[in-house]
Parts: sequence; structure tokens; C-alpha cells
Amino acid sequence: MSDCIFCKIIAGDIPSKKVYEDDEVVAFHDIRPIAPVHFMLVPKLHVASLTECNESHRDLLGRLLLLAPRLAKEQGLETGFRTMINTGHDGGQEVFHLHIHVFGGGATLPKT
Ligand code: AMP
Ligand code: ZN
Repeated sequence: MSDCIFCKIIAGDIPSKKVYEDDEVVAFHDIRPIAPVHFMLVPKLHVASLTECNESHRDLLGRLLLLAPRLAKEQGLETGFRTMINTGHDGGQEVFHLHIHVFGGGATLPKT
């Protein structure tokens, strides 16, 4: 997607603070962190949101979720973290390329 900011980050056209990369996934720090540690897990495949996912994305979604605790630990979130997937306009989604926020650190997060 030529006008997608996360596709541009994946292509290396926009810089990011990467914490992880493999053949299917990248993870980079959020430019506007809401916690001392805040990064996002992003599939290299452009999928707009969870709404656009189907059975063909099952393995990719599993891979993303399984990476969350591993990368959280690597980023120093030893005692817990929060994940968030904003979906669609009313879900507060700003960037329409699927991503999982992972954040925490500093203090116990308030209950939602
Ligand atoms: P949302 O779509 O609501 O889950 O939020 C998208 C997130 O992407 C926001 O938290 C932004 O701060 C973050 N973001 C937007 N542009 C960039 C960028 N160039 N590098 C890193 N994070 C970004
Ligand atoms: Zn994209």
C-alpha cells in the first residue's frame, strides 16, 4: 500500500526504532509512547485491521501474539505488560495497517 505509513516503515522509507524483525513481522517503538516501554508488532503483509482478517491470517495472528511476551521480556517488561489492538474508526484506530500495541513499565497499569 503506497500511502500506508507502516508499509513505508517496513520498506525502510521512513525510519523507526526497530526492536525485532523476521520474514513476516516487524516490531518498532511507538513514536508517541503512552508508557515507559511502548512498541508495536506489525505484520509485513498489509492488512488494514482485524476486521479484514480471515482464516488465511490465522498463523500470522498466532505468530504476532506469541511474539508479544517474548519481545516484552526483551524490552524489560519482566513483570507484565498490556496489549491493545485498536480496530476501526470507533475503535480509535489511526493507522490502518494491523498492529498490536505492547506497553508497560514504571508502574502497574490501571484497570480498564
Ligand atoms: P492506532 O492506529 O490507534 O493503534 O495507533 C497508531 C499508532 O502508531 C499511534 O500510537 C502512533 O503514535 C503510532 N505511529 C504513527 N506514526 C508512527 C511512526 N512513524 N513511527 C512509530 N509509531 C508511529
Ligand atoms: Zn500497510
